Amino acid sequence: MTLEDSRVNGAPAGLTGDTADLLQQMIRNECVNDGTKASGHEFRNAQTLAAYLGDTGFDVARFEPAPGRESLVARIEGTDPSAPALCLMGHIDVVPVDPAGWTRDPFAGERVGDEIWGRGAVDMLNLTASMAVAFRQLALHGPRFAGDLVFFAAADEESGGEHGIRWLAKNEPDAIRADYVLTENGGLHNGAHVGVKVAEKGVAWHRLRVRGTAGHGARPWRADNALARAAQIIQRLTDYRPAPRLDDLWRLKVATLDVPDDLRAALLDPARLDDCLGTMPNKNLAAYLHACTHTTFSCNVVSGPMKTNVIPGTVDLDVDVRSLPGEDADEVRAHLVAALGDLLDDVDVDIFLHQPANASPTATPLWDSLQRAVNQRFPASRIGPELAVGLTDARIYRDLGAVAYGAGLFSPTLDPSDYARRFHGDDERIDLESLALSTRFWIDVVSDFLG
Ligand SMILES: [Zn+2]
Repeated sequence: MTLEDSRVNGAPAGLTGDTADLLQQMIRNECVNDGTKASGHEFRNAQTLAAYLGDTGFDVARFEPAPGRESLVARIEGTDPSAPALCLMGHIDVVPVDPAGWTRDPFAGERVGDEIWGRGAVDMLNLTASMAVAFRQLALHGPRFAGDLVFFAAADEESGGEHGIRWLAKNEPDAIRADYVLTENGGLHNGAHVGVKVAEKGVAWHRLRVRGTAGHGARPWRADNALARAAQIIQRLTDYRPAPRLDDLWRLKVATLDVPDDLRAALLDPARLDDCLGTMPNKNLAAYLHACTHTTFSCNVVSGPMKTNVIPGTVDLDVDVRSLPGEDADEVRAHLVAALGDLLDDVDVDIFLHQPANASPTATPLWDSLQRAVNQRFPASRIGPELAVGLTDARIYRDLGAVAYGAGLFSPTLDPSDYARRFHGDDERIDLESLALSTRFWIDVVSDFLG
């Protein structure tokens, strides 16, 4: 099934039509997670999905650990309790928007030509919608498999999962139990390769409380201004250049890149890598490749009791630190010491979210099923393992002992850098061909793996 097989009078129909409809509804539900407990409102998307799955005859359980923060889990029990269970997991929250950067209403869920526009169209309501459609199709018309098939629509992924997967893992582990998990985000084409995320960088979200001395804004001479000190700290972290670290996953990634041989050689040389990334014309690709090989620091929030006529005595600076596979808390601390030097003397360091990087092996039956499912649409393509540089719920399942991959299958015309730019970015949108391919892909993988 491609889009052309399932179009009626120019509009998507059949399973692709279901995926497009669900995606549009979920965009319009505006489940925006701004990091506060009172945001998210994922009950709206859980309700939409529950209504869609209502006629399958299978149990659809909903969990609400905090008001409005609803997750949904549906399970088709297999015939053999000892057979491995497979979970399709998608999150149902989205990040906030800055409407000024959008050329369309980010929550209208419009179809414009062959694209659906709106917040969540790529991260990741597109995949969550296609998973729900695949699950329902298999529930209604599929064979009974040996192992369980689980569909898990998770709240609060965008803020670390405290009100979603982390709550369920702690309080309802049987509900989400699975041996293998597919979630965001793979399926982009790079020449003859289709990417599958097998590992994920760690997060170490720091809050630096920068100390100064409060005073009157009318007498700033020789003042001890915490905000001015925070500005120096931001500059040092922005300028910090840690050495790159190249591992096997990096070498595999570089091998699949569609680039000239001299560039490939530079990417594999720690002495030349940074210069090479610094001059690469494709800034999005360079940023991803940089994140794959470096510990990164991004100063993203400044807060505190601030007023125009008061010299601030303390300022909190949130730094989004992403650690590499194998890098522990001491090594992250060493980076901070190297970057800030003497400025650390006036800072209290708090790490408010710390999850090390983790990975799943590729020598698994699910990896082979992914390869075969890709080959059903693209016979010459090979899947290639990649590092996810962002946070996803896959890490929680890996910590529970499951094999988890970031997968999907998109249109070959979708440029990976364009796609990446739409994540948490402006004018987020997805093409219908990608929705058709992803929907069919989940059905093919599940049938191959559980069949
Ligand atoms: Zn996401």
